[in-house]
Parts: sequence; structure tokens; C-alpha cells
Amino acid sequence: MKTSKIISDLVRDNIKGIKPYSSARDEYKDVATTEMIFLDANENPFENGVNRYPDPQQNSVKDLLATIKNVSKENILLGNGSDEVLDLIFRAFCEPNKDNIITLPPTYGMYNVLANINAIENREVLLDENFQPKVSQILKTADNNSKILFLCSPNNPTGNSFTVPAVKELLIKFKGLVVLDEAYIDFSEEESWLQSLQKYPNLIVTQTLSKAYGLAGIRLGICYASIEIINILNTIKPPYNVNELTQQRAISRLKKMDEIDNEISQLKSERDRLKKELECCVDFIEKVYPSDGNFLLIKVDNATKRYNQLIELGVVIRNRTTQPLCENCLRISVGVCEENQKLLRALKSLV
Ligand SMILES: *Cc1c(COP(=O)(O)O)cnc(C)c1O
Repeated sequence: MKTSKIISDLVRDNIKGIKPYSSARDEYKDVATTEMIFLDANENPFENGVNRYPDPQQNSVKDLLATIKNVSKENILLGNGSDEVLDLIFRAFCEPNKDNIITLPPTYGMYNVLANINAIENREVLLDENFQPKVSQILKTADNNSKILFLCSPNNPTGNSFTVPAVKELLIKFKGLVVLDEAYIDFSEEESWLQSLQKYPNLIVTQTLSKAYGLAGIRLGICYASIEIINILNTIKPPYNVNELTQQRAISRLKKMDEIDNEISQLKSERDRLKKELECCVDFIEKVYPSDGNFLLIKVDNATKRYNQLIELGVVIRNRTTQPLCENCLRISVGVCEENQKLLRALKSLV
């Protein structure tokens, strides 16, 4: 495996030079001009639409994503949700009981869960009072075993994006990999960091079809990175990690970008309308934070009380009060117009 110095220094010793499982469909090279028959994978040959193993490299999905996102196909790896992608990154680069990662709470809970599962220390550096990264403190916290810095932008649950200078400085000065989780980028006016992959060899951008693309049920997460990093992750991924039904649904959805764009713009205008209504007309709401995502973080008088009251009225939101910097905060996903109306009516009825 050819890897540039910086990446090969970061990868775990046991992963270097590992030989991936070679599946039947990996070994078969598409060279024939006549019709082929496939007697290589011990499948049941009676056709039912999914009797064959799926494409281990998900070529058709990647072709569409490459065009839509204006990146090269070789810079893409797909997983069974972002969760699998993130787990692959841990397993490729973090040595259990030795290496550490840096996360910036309050943020997405999965980074910490994956760190625990993989026996990796999670060094937490809280965001500042504006929910921005404390760059110099992050750099002071890092040591030679700090393999990954997780930046979630727009951040869940705070909703804001991190400033360009802060991210740039971290990309330049942090010695490990920087994973930029852009799960909510399609709702944001800020630019994606995807076009900076060439410039920063330690950058990994993750996105997902679970949010703006409306396909949480099929589990499809996306990793964009240098070819070196993608090659390493490819050697350790389960061969058929994205199933045939998922690939089919992703393909048909990605061919209808106009539909997706239309839903995104509706959700953004609903978000902005909801924000105004919450600010003006619900007296126990102290603050509605700005959001680049499809959710709003609000500060209330008593988060747990309001959360329970809403459940009684059939409205389920997320209580974030135990998260650092989020005392008495609730996170509300933006619904369709009628759902948001029902939420507002419920909130206004509370005493
Ligand atoms: C929802 C979310 C994801 C998506 O995870 P999937 O496994 O792809 O569904 C990733 N990161 C963040 C910050 C999220 O909020």
C-alpha cells in the first residue's frame, strides 16, 4: 500500500500492509463482451431482485455522489451510516489503550461511544461560550498519541457552524486527522470543507443521507478523504457493508436532486419561521440559538419540566439539559408545517 508519510505515521501497525478479504465480486474483473453467468459466489441463482451480493464498491452510488458533490470517486468511501464510517476511522488509526481522540462538547454523542468501544481515551475540550472551538486549548491538549480531532460543523446539538479561521488553524496545526462531520451541511449557508481535501491531507469530511437527503432508514454514511486514507479504510471495511436495497434507494433518490433541494428549502424556511415564533410568543423560552441545521436549540426555564409536559401532549423533542453548556436546553427538529404548528400550539398552552 502506498501512503504518504503523514498518513502512514498515523495508521495502526497491525493495519499497515493488511490483506483485505477478497470477495468473489472483487476478483471478477469486467472484461467479457458476451453475456456472463455468475457461478462464483454460491448465491441462489433464482432471480428475486436481491439474490446476488451487492457491489462491494457501490460504484453507481459513488458516481452520482461524485457528480453532485464535485469530488473524485476515488475520494469516497461509503458505510452503513456515518456510524460505521466513524468506527472504521477509529479502527484504522487508533491503537486501543494507547491513543486518544479530542472532542469538543457539547457535541454528537457517537464520538464518545465509539471511543469507549474501541478503548480510546476521549480528551474533551469544551466549546467556548459562543459554541466555537478553543483552538489554543485544543492544541495544548493534543500529544503524539492524539490521532483524531472531531469537529462537528454545523454542530449537533448547538446548531452553529465553526468559523473558517478556527477550522483552518486546527487543520494546519493539529498533527493527527481532523474529521469534519458535516451531517447538516446541506441546511447551512456556510461552505462545505469538501473542496479543501487536496489542500489538507489530514482532512476527512463525513456526510450522510440520513438528514437532508431523507434516507435515515436505509443507513448510508459517506466519507470523503485523500486516496491514501480511503485506501486504508477500504482494506478494513466489511466487503458488503452497504446492502443492495440501500444502494438502489440511494441511487433513485440521488437522481432526484430537485426534490431534495425543494425539501431542504422548505425546511430552512420552516426553521426560520419557527425560530421567530418561539422567540416572540412563548414566554418561558429564554433563548433560541441560531441554527445552520434542521433543528433548533432553545433555552427554557426548566427543560425537564417542559420536556415532560410536551410528551404528555404527544410532542417528542430532545432534552439536552445534562450536556455541558446546555443547562435547561431542548433540541427541536424542524418538522413539516403542520407539525411545527402543533408544536407551537402545545408550547403556547403550557403553564
Ligand atoms: C445524525 C448525525 C449523523 C448521522 O449519522 P448516520 O449514522 O449517518 O445516520 C452524523 N453526525 C451527526 C453530528 C449527526 O447529528
